[in-house]
Amino acid sequence: MSTEKEYKGGCFCGAVELRVVGKAEAMGYCHCTSCRQWSAGPVNAFTLWPLNAVTISRGADQVGSFQKTANSIRKWCKACGGHLLTEHPGWGLTDVYAASLRDFRFEPMLHANYSETVLRLHDGLPKLKDFPKELGGSGTSVPE
Ligand SMILES: [Zn+2]
Ligand SMILES: [Zn+2]
Repeated sequence: MSTEKEYKGGCFCGAVELRVVGKAEAMGYCHCTSCRQWSAGPVNAFTLWPLNAVTISRGADQVGSFQKTANSIRKWCKACGGHLLTEHPGWGLTDVYAASLRDFRFEPMLHANYSETVLRLHDGLPKLKDFPKELGGSGTSVPE
């Protein structure tokens, strides 16, 4: 028996359910144009998990997939259009949108791609120009 914590989440209509286990590797907000266009929102709240920590536990046949760039495979529910997650194979991580998870405590650490922001947030968290160094970015901070 695993003692790892488990969290459930899913889409807008409930046809798709997902499960994540363990601990998120990182959490925060992404301000990039891709996230904004895909989410139709000004900012994306992300939680990053190892690929094998995330399972589609119901409605896998309803999951649509779209890949525009090599490192992002975006998935949503074909029944309701609700967004679920983005796989980042190049990082070995899956971004399960914080809003897709239930009963999960979202603890943001940083803001990524803040140079592209359309919504400045004065929360005192680090604002990175692009991505952290560990994810291939510059790790450079920019003003809030
Ligand atoms: Zn749905
Ligand atoms: Zn982004």
